Amino acid sequence: MGRYIDIIFPDNDVRYIAVGDEVDTQKGENELTPIKNLFNEWYVRDTSKKIKRAFYAKGKSGEHIILPVYGYKKSPDDPKKWIIDDEAAAVVKRIFKMCLEGYSTSQIAKILESEHIYSPSVYKKKKGLEYNGGTISANEYAWSHTAVSSILKRKEYCGYTVNIKTYKKSYKNKKRYIVPEDERFIFKDTQEAIIDEETFENVQPLVAKKRRINSYGEPDIFAGLLFCYDCKEKMYMRRIEDRSKAFYYCSSAKNGRIKCKLHMVKCYDLEAFVLRTLKKVIKFATENESEFTNRLKKYDCTYSESEISSLKNELSSKENRKTEITNIYKSLYEDKYKNILS
Ligand SMILES: [Zn+2]
Repeated sequence: MGRYIDIIFPDNDVRYIAVGDEVDTQKGENELTPIKNLFNEWYVRDTSKKIKRAFYAKGKSGEHIILPVYGYKKSPDDPKKWIIDDEAAAVVKRIFKMCLEGYSTSQIAKILESEHIYSPSVYKKKKGLEYNGGTISANEYAWSHTAVSSILKRKEYCGYTVNIKTYKKSYKNKKRYIVPEDERFIFKDTQEAIIDEETFENVQPLVAKKRRINSYGEPDIFAGLLFCYDCKEKMYMRRIEDRSKAFYYCSSAKNGRIKCKLHMVKCYDLEAFVLRTLKKVIKFATENESEFTNRLKKYDCTYSESEISSLKNELSSKENRKTEITNIYKSLYEDKYKNILS
């Protein structure tokens, strides 16, 4: 405030009147004003601290300090508790499913929009649920890829309460800083889960990795995965009209820093190499199944026994379906041959 009264207001010919404090800048300077400003400042700082402390205590106790996230609503019996909001929870489940099926967050957003599913804040508004203000887009079905990815990252869907994820350094600084994950207050089973933990964990690497589409209209399968052996910098794809000449290059060379020699690898060579290696691994896996499983376990493979058996079931049911379809084709062909079909 002091800066306004002493500098900004006089500079801009603004007359400042504070009735309660008997301040009128046109009547001249009030000697007490700077002191009053100082007290005001203390007061604000103190209140801010008190609010922060109360908020922190609440967060530490395991109480929800945010409004229910999309998919949940406040329990009518106890507003401190969250219960599942079936309609939105179904959308949340679909988002996780689509992500596992390989859709990118922007593709998921587009699908939801095309199906005319209300965006989270519009949905909450329509249902009369509390939501965090903010402007609502004119397009009620506008889903952003960030909205989708923030849903995919919310541990709340597994029944957790995660408190104090961000903080402000001071009441004067609006910027919010991220609290490291191990310093957050995390509580388990505080509400019914919408997503099981296994699904959640399987989705995380998919959300973290950006699956960019390159200018050849195909996903850049190595994006964010290639690092220069010498300088450990990321390697990027250099697109060339002739697809067969495109290459990955070491990014330290790009920035003009002479950290290491210009390392590059042709995309085709790399793809061929990875494909050859994959084929070898697959051959090994089919020929020495148990040895392969043992080695995988050493690599801390995320597939559990139950997952493997469910994948096996899926495989056998797909194989059955394949024979079924082959048979249908066969009989159709025979029918055609017998002139039943024209
Ligand atoms: Zn390098």
